[in-house]
Parts: sequence; C-alpha cells; structure tokens
Amino acid sequence: MRQSHMLQPICGYHRDAEDHWVAQLACGHNQHVRHDPPWQNRPWVTTHEGRLHMLGVELECKKCDEGAPLDYQPDHQPDQQPDKLPRETD
Ligand SMILES: [Zn+2]
Repeated sequence: MRQSHMLQPICGYHRDAEDHWVAQLACGHNQHVRHDPPWQNRPWVTTHEGRLHMLGVELECKKCDEGAPLDYQPDHQPDQQPDKLPRETD
C-alpha cells in the first residue's frame, strides 16, 4: 500500500485571483489555505503573524501523491524577504 500523504513545509504564500490565501509548499506545489468557517477554520491565515507562524509547518500535499506537475508560485510573498526562489515553473 502506498504512503497516503506527503508532508511538505510551507515556504511562502500568495493570494489567488479570488483573494483566497494559497500556501506555497517546498515541493513546488500550491495549496489553498482558506479560512471559510465552519468548513475550513484557519483563522491564522487571516493575520500576518498567523501566516508567519505557520511558515515551515508541514501540510499534506496530495499533489505529490498524485505526481502532479509543479504549480506556479508567484514571487509575491509579503511575509518574507523578497528573495528570489530558485524554483521557477513555466
Ligand atoms: Zn507537493
């Protein structure tokens, strides 16, 4: 049986076109981290401090499990130093 989840640390964030927060995982995939109560309660994502606190925390990446292609990770990372990530997808 296959390992059913792959844990990947959050390395940054951006917002999507609908203003939802998207975590950028170290593996190169993106994952929505919506705060959409009562279904999805992530009040931390709505605050700058909360997001900073969650940097490095590991989330399950289903895309890794599926072998999905890497996501586009915009450079827009207001919570971090504006370092260029070495990872660029095209
Ligand atoms: Zn992944």
